[in-house]
Amino acid sequence: MNKIIYITRKIPEAGLKLLRDKGIAFDIGEFKNPPTKKELIKALSKKPYDGVIDFLTDKIDKEVFDACPTAKIFANFSVGFDNIDLEEAKKRNICISNTPGTSATAVAEHTVALMLALTTRLVEGDEYMRRGKFKGWDPNLFIGTDLKGKTIGLIGAGQIGTEVAKMMHYGFGSNVIYSDICSNPVLEQITGPTRKETADVLREADIVSLHVPLLPSTHHLINKESLATMKKTAFLINTSRGAVVDEKALVDALKNNVIRGAGIDVYEFEPKLTKGLIKLPDVIITPHIASARQSARDMMAEIAARNIISVFETGKAINSVINEK
Ligand code: NAD
Repeated sequence: MNKIIYITRKIPEAGLKLLRDKGIAFDIGEFKNPPTKKELIKALSKKPYDGVIDFLTDKIDKEVFDACPTAKIFANFSVGFDNIDLEEAKKRNICISNTPGTSATAVAEHTVALMLALTTRLVEGDEYMRRGKFKGWDPNLFIGTDLKGKTIGLIGAGQIGTEVAKMMHYGFGSNVIYSDICSNPVLEQITGPTRKETADVLREADIVSLHVPLLPSTHHLINKESLATMKKTAFLINTSRGAVVDEKALVDALKNNVIRGAGIDVYEFEPKLTKGLIKLPDVIITPHIASARQSARDMMAEIAARNIISVFETGKAINSVINEK
């Protein structure tokens, strides 16, 4: 195949091999950190690339499409695709694909790890030990919260939400309720008919866990008003996308004990954190690593490469995120 693509940062060999086997050439960006838009535009303007594999940190908009007018596909190396201007892509007939299902287990495990770390006060205990404060067993030291019998409220119950439901129901004996724009029969086989309105999930859950994509309808879904409806003892977990939460409102709510704590992997202004967030004791923050497993990365690389190949061979992506005519 006489084609060349640009890959904004190095991806695993699993994907590169598929491209090589099809005779597709590629250039890989050598950026240490995510490229700025200026750097991306400069790199894409160098050759008439036929396609691009990009990352969630690459903002793909009108100006980027202009810099690479020959590209037939932008294959996003992630499940979410909120970094891409889909309307603009649609206008230009550019395929946009993602890598669905590649990290459901990893993200669900990370979500459960954040829940457990908060309820067992694991990080606080670790810091206490390292600061040399441990003077012996104390019946009142770091009293945690049981997960058994507690209500886990999922907002968004697709691939990741379903995995979280399985782990919490079978692993910990928690009750799982959920809100979603669609009902989820697979999840309901486990939990029973527990689909509710989002407002009810927020009000009833001991732990609210977010698993929706970032869309105009989910932007700031968690805000001052919705936080005020949660239990004072509740924890909020966000492994979806930062801007699903109004981060300033969350910091204020935590400061004022509106809710008990939060476990966060994704941030509204990534990589910046809202002022005050790191000072809060009942908050565990991780650097957007919920899907960081080699197995998931290999699968993402393969799927991104397969989408590129499919567009060159058939004109269509396998995992298109734009409804095709
Ligand atoms: P999915 O598409 O399988 O599930 C998303 C669910 O959200 C669907 O069931 C959908 O019906 C529901 N939904 C959409 N809009 C909604 C709304 N307004 N209200 C309620 N529900 C709504 O996706 P997934 O694989 O479960 O991933 C979910 C999100 O997790 C991704 O979009 C991505 O942003 C994020 N993610 C984060 C990481 C990470 O590293 N932290 C990794 C992978 C995915």
